[in-house]
Amino acid sequence: MVDVDTTIAELRERVRAFVHARDWESFHTPKDLAIALSVEASELVEPFLWRETSARLSAEDRASVGEELADVIIYGLSLANVLDLDLSEAVLDKLRKDERKYPARRFRGRAP
Ligand SMILES: [Mg+2]
Repeated sequence: MVDVDTTIAELRERVRAFVHARDWESFHTPKDLAIALSVEASELVEPFLWRETSARLSAEDRASVGEELADVIIYGLSLANVLDLDLSEAVLDKLRKDERKYPARRFRGRAP
């Protein structure tokens, strides 16, 4: 599993190199990256539209969700690069905030 051996820093650098090799920095503004991320998130949910909640995804739809999730993450990494955000710090800070907002003893088994 590649997840175990790949760091966020490595992914960020791959995304940065991809953008740089195409001289796309001027197009990758925070506004356009945020919009692109949102568009990709909408593409991600398409295989779920009009399906029963319990319906299993086909292999093709599962692959599509993986590809769109990758697009979302790539734009997220690029947005973090452009804004010079420490993504790990942001995720850990947000998880701590959510742990306080939704303490497990009160929310276990309950929708937020
Ligand atoms: Mg896409």
